[in-house]
Amino acid sequence: MYICKYCNNKAVINYFILREMMFGLRDEFEYVECANCNSIQIVEIPSNLAKYYPPNYLSFELKHENKLKNWLKLKRFDNSYTAKGLIGKIVKKIWWAPPIGDFLRIANIRLTDAILDVGSGEGELLFLMHQYGFSNLSGIDPFICGSKNPFKGLNFFKGSIQDVNEKYDLIMFNHSLEHVADPIKDLLKAATLLNPNKYVLIRIPVVGGYAWRTYGVNWVQLDAPRHLSIPTVTGIRELAALTGFSLDKVIYESWDFQFWGSEQFQNDIPLHDNRSLWFKSKESIFSKKQIKDYKKKAKQLNQNNDGDMACFFLRKL
Ligand SMILES: [Zn+2]
Repeated sequence: MYICKYCNNKAVINYFILREMMFGLRDEFEYVECANCNSIQIVEIPSNLAKYYPPNYLSFELKHENKLKNWLKLKRFDNSYTAKGLIGKIVKKIWWAPPIGDFLRIANIRLTDAILDVGSGEGELLFLMHQYGFSNLSGIDPFICGSKNPFKGLNFFKGSIQDVNEKYDLIMFNHSLEHVADPIKDLLKAATLLNPNKYVLIRIPVVGGYAWRTYGVNWVQLDAPRHLSIPTVTGIRELAALTGFSLDKVIYESWDFQFWGSEQFQNDIPLHDNRSLWFKSKESIFSKKQIKDYKKKAKQLNQNNDGDMACFFLRKL
């Protein structure tokens, strides 16, 4: 029987067939839309889900970058986290990154706070935060190779949030909640792990924005079958209410990917393809002018709360 993963409603208003298009397998999956909150979810979780997380899946490729690049990244993060620093400001302008430092600053997170990243992959974000000076970081992921403590103050565990028992000052779901079987169960668990008045940050694609309305089943963020569900803002609000949180703030953080990724899918070009912009292909179907326009449009959509990805601030009540 269908039950919405965000609001527990049992009525459906729409069915869709989505295709696997990251790797271009084109396997088909049935999804439904909730009649109450309009979030969408897969009808049946594939029993062979691991097939769709091959070794070259993006969150498991840790990039080894040179020292200068790394230093520039730290400067950029510093500008985002402190809202100060000229070099970081310049780097941010020419070399875009998700504004995670902004989210940490807005949530009043200090360097010594205990932070858990759920679905950390191999931990690119946590490595950066550790280098910056955060001293109590943990990452958990069902698909990593095993428990690792690469540095003092940085730990990784294999598993799900259900396996965690420590207390935290911040729990982040960085593009991971859309991959779990039961978001309500995982948020209930997060509530037991958080110290009072602290935040869960959920960074996730959002159904209902411009890209969804424009591209429909070709919207790149649907990412079947890895994204088992994708919420609307209403869906996250219902989820917060069901699990003991207040939804305090929503910040949109979509980028040009929503346009070129979806345009590629409309033209039957997977993300992993020799014409794909994902690999900065010279054979891409887009002109420089188009990409520039997509970047501008993404900024406008974020300002109008109409982008296809957002960061949700859920405060523990
Ligand atoms: Zn719902």
